[in-house]
Formats: sequence, C-alpha cells, structure tokens
Amino acid sequence: DTTDIKILLLENVNQSGRDILLDQGYQVESLKTSLPEDQLIEKIRDVHVIGIRSKTKLNQRVLREAKNLIVVGCFCIGTNQVDLDYAARHGIAVFNSPFANSRSVAELVIAEIITLARQLGDRSMELHNGTWNKVSARCWEIRGKTLGIIGYGHIGSQLSVLAEAMGMSVIYYDVVNLMALGTAKQVATLPELLGEADFVTCHVPELPETKNMIGAAQFEQMKDGSYLINASRGSVIDIPALINASRNGKIAGAALDVYPSEPGGNGDYFTNSLNPWAEDLRSLKNIILTPHIGGSTEEAQRAIGVEVGEALVRYVNSGVTLGAVNMPEVNLRSLTLDERDHARVIYIHRNVPGVLRKVNEILGDHNVDKQITDNKGDVAYLMADISNVQTSEIKEISDSLEALSSRILTRILY
Ligand code: NAD
Repeated sequence: DTTDIKILLLENVNQSGRDILLDQGYQVESLKTSLPEDQLIEKIRDVHVIGIRSKTKLNQRVLREAKNLIVVGCFCIGTNQVDLDYAARHGIAVFNSPFANSRSVAELVIAEIITLARQLGDRSMELHNGTWNKVSARCWEIRGKTLGIIGYGHIGSQLSVLAEAMGMSVIYYDVVNLMALGTAKQVATLPELLGEADFVTCHVPELPETKNMIGAAQFEQMKDGSYLINASRGSVIDIPALINASRNGKIAGAALDVYPSEPGGNGDYFTNSLNPWAEDLRSLKNIILTPHIGGSTEEAQRAIGVEVGEALVRYVNSGVTLGAVNMPEVNLRSLTLDERDHARVIYIHRNVPGVLRKVNEILGDHNVDKQITDNKGDVAYLMADISNVQTSEIKEISDSLEALSSRILTRILY
C-alpha cells in the first residue's frame, strides 16, 4: 500500500520532486539540510526511500543501518556521494538525473561565445574598476563564424541548434557517428575540427580518453585567434597549455566552468596552494572563469525534481529500474496489478549459476505471463509478472525466494 511507504528527503529537494511523491500518498518527511552522520543513521533505519543531493554521504556505515531502504534518489547529477556497489549488493537501487540540465549548459555556452567575441568580461571588469575603455579592435559578431563542438551528446546537440539560430555554422566531432541537426556537419577527426573552428567547445564525458584531450599539440592545431570553451569536466583541458596558448596569442580567449579539482562548498578557491596555475590564469585577458554553474538554474533544479521523483515512483510502485545507475535496467510493460490474481515478483539476487532454475521452480505453479532478468556485475534483477496467484499464496512465494542462498531482496507487488 503506497501509504505505508516512508520517505526522507534531505538538502531541500525541489518542490517539484516532493509534490510527485506526496501525490502518491507516501509519507514524506522533508528537511532543508543534510544531517550529521549519527542523526542520519537514526533516521535512515526507518525509511524505504531517501532523497538526497550532493552533501549527504551514503557510505557503508550509513547504508548498513538502512534495513528497510529499497531506493536512493540523488536529486542531482553526480552519484559519488553514494557507495553504489555496496548499495547494489544490498538490493538498494540508486537513481539520479544526468540530463535535466543540458539546456542550461547549452545556453551558458551561447552566452560565453558572445562574451568572448566581444571581450565583455574584460570591459565589465575595467568599468567596475572605474576605467572607460571603448574598443572595437578584435571584437566580432558571431554571425557567420564556425562553432566546433567536441562531443555531440545531450548538451552538444542542443548547443548546435541554438548556435545555428544565431547564424553560426556548426561542425562537430564525436567518437560515434551521429545524425546532424539542422545543417551541422560531423567531421572525421579532432584536428580537422580544430583547424576549422573559430570557437571550440568541449562536451565530452570525463574518461581516460578525454583526459587532457586539449593540450599543447591541440592548441597548435587551432586557428590563430580562435576561442576555447570548457563546461564539461576539468580533466579535459590541460590548463598550463591553455595559459601558454593565451600568453602567446594563439587563442583570443577562453571560458572555463570546470576545473581539475573543485571545492566542496563556496568560499576561497583560486589560490596557488590548491592550483599552482591559479595566479597565471587570473592575470590573463579575456578568460571567463565561472564556478561550475553550467547547470545551475531554477529550471534545471525543477526538471531534476521531476525526473528523479518520477523514477522513484516507478521503482517503488512497479520495480522498474530504467535510469538506475547501479542496477541493470529492467522494465516490463504489462503490469496489471488491478486484476485480482496478478502479482509482480521482483527478485534481486547474486548472479550465481543455477538461480533461475530454482526461482522458476518456485514460480512454476503459477502462470508466468512475462519474465525478464538482467545483471550488472554480481547483481542480477529478475522481474516476473504472474497470474493465477491468490493473495494467500504470496507469502509462501516470498518466503521460498528469500530462503534461496542467492537472495539479496525480494519484493512482491500485488
Ligand atoms: P552525453 O553523454 O550526452 O554526450 C557526450 C558525447 O561525447 C557523446 O555523444 C559521446 O559519444 C561523446 N564522446 C565520448 N568520448 C568522446 C571522445 N573521446 N571524443 C569525442 N567524443 C566523445 O553528455 P552530456 O550530457 O552532453 O554532457 C557532456 C559533458 O558535460 C559531461 O562531461 C558532463 O559531465 C558535463 N556537464 C557539465 C555541466 C556543468 O555544470 N558545467 C552540467 C551538465 C553536464
């Protein structure tokens, strides 16, 4: 029964997410902040669902106490605040919202393209300091210029559409062959992109292959007087090489939203003790520095609330794991729990030989309408819709599944 489900939301989860959960009739307790670990442990013992953002650390010590917990909703992008492996091995699914802020990032990049082309950052800083410095030399319109997008995923492709609307030509480079939007054109190699683009912008994930993807050699390949933008991950750009390229006039400007190491909270950051290149970077002309705000908008927060809220409802009510980060993604469409003799069996188990035979022996007395299993590493997720089952038989099925040595978690929805 949905009214039995207890949910704890921490860190001021967006109203949009809270409303979705409240609409289901769940018992929702919502706090504005994160909790100290001991208080968190006290509270987590009781709940089936927890919603957090980036400050709440769900480590083994905390999760070990979370005896009733079936799912974690990270109302944010990152999930490294949660011990994902430990959670999976204890049958706790984890969801996040990786793409709800794509549009916000794409809009920021558009703003940065114009800001760089017009040296707005410098003019604004000068006048803040009292200096009137009217210049038109090396200030440009963006109309007719070429934007080179590295990584044509959620953000890169949105940006492509916006940039064309402003009169730019768009080329992109991606490891995958992707359908071009509008009149954008995929190029075969990174050097080809770097040699053609007036503005180069990075939208690739953080991977070993993308580490220092733009370094000294790549700056050499860029057009003289071009610009570089990075709102992807700090590891993608070799910052000392960028400083060099700016000093020797190879690039006319750059915008950075992300850095190789970023602080946990607001306050002092750009000191040389943390980042040996900080002073150099701060002293350069036409370099926009922002504190990882690409996705930081009210709209993105609301969209994250909706996406994670809906994922939690789907998981709690029907066991669907689409979008889970630490479990195989499993879905069956035909759930007909309204019919009295139907039930959905969810069996999270260790992926060891012979399990499915035993499970099917247990379910075999009933009509298995549909069944699906998938695994991620050691953890497997089985979903079976059965009919011809009486409410009185459900406990027996559950007990038999729980008695198998492979069991991690059994849920039967009916
Ligand atoms: P995505 O997964 O949708 O797209 C990434 C694209 O990069 C894919 O098309 C992929 O094929 C391509 N790619 C992967 N490796 C590549 C390589 N070696 N060379 C070329 N292309 C490669 O990701 P997204 O949602 O568009 O996000 C892009 C980046 O932006 C990620 O690093 C993400 O973490 C970051 N991001 C930053 C902010 C911010 O606030 N600044 C907000 C959201 C996302």
